[in-house]
Amino acid sequence: MMKKLDLLYEGKAKKVYKTEDENVLIVDYKDDATAFNGLKKGTIVGKGAINNRMSNHIFRLLEKEGVPTHLVEELSDRETAVKKVEIVPLEVIIRNVAAGSFSKKLGIEEGRKLLRPTLEFSYKNDELGDPFINGYYALALGLATEEEIETISDYAFRVNDVLIKYFDSIGIELIDFKIEFGRLADGTVILADEISPDTCRLWDKETREKLDKDRFRRDLGNVEDAYEEVFKRLGIK
Ligand code: ADP
Ligand code: UDP
Repeated sequence: MMKKLDLLYEGKAKKVYKTEDENVLIVDYKDDATAFNGLKKGTIVGKGAINNRMSNHIFRLLEKEGVPTHLVEELSDRETAVKKVEIVPLEVIIRNVAAGSFSKKLGIEEGRKLLRPTLEFSYKNDELGDPFINGYYALALGLATEEEIETISDYAFRVNDVLIKYFDSIGIELIDFKIEFGRLADGTVILADEISPDTCRLWDKETREKLDKDRFRRDLGNVEDAYEEVFKRLGIK
């Protein structure tokens, strides 16, 4: 069994450790929750284990559908071995239904179905609050190459196609989500980080009840219940 060595990085939701294999890291998911660029802090009991196991479940599904991911092996409820990548400093956001910053910025009521999915980038930079940028900015700043942006965009829409169908089959509407990509040592771009109720907006298909981190961001209550409900529907043994 792989062992955690030095702590490489402690983020808001996960700790990342080195291992004996220089190409492999171990991520350890925490129950800590933050919102509004770290301004709001709290704990969601059980979140770490749910996000870890859910993310791995979804990454396995995506691998089968031809999207390469960083997943190596789930080590425990909270810990997973992943391929070490150099993270491309872009948050890639796909939207199917208006919500959150999109609704606010454009004055469109939350819940309006978009005519087609959108893709947008944020520059992954906590000090700046992850500002919205476009592909030209990313190229001009050297954050990614043209080929990488094309690969990332293609994968992101494929992830959306797979996840819309999958969540629909468990009674959930996929509103929007954020993903991150990274480069392996040979430059190959793969999906990294996580896919969980922290990084997706997930609404119950029938009632449109929010089953994601918006319950924490907006003090809607029943935060733990929402994460557990999503996890239960995944049917992971
Ligand atoms: P944040 O940095 O936003 O607070 P987290 O607490 O989730 O986020 O920390 C995890 C960090 O690890 C993130 O910065 C993420 O980009 C990075 N990361 C995710 N997967 C990998 C990977 N396979 N290799 C290297 N870094 C990764
Ligand atoms: N998101 C994320 N991390 C971020 C910003 C956004 O995981 O740092 C996710 C968020 O959970 C939602 C989607 O990306 O599923 C779109 O978020 P939006 O731009 O609407 O921002 P927010 O309303 O969360 O500020």
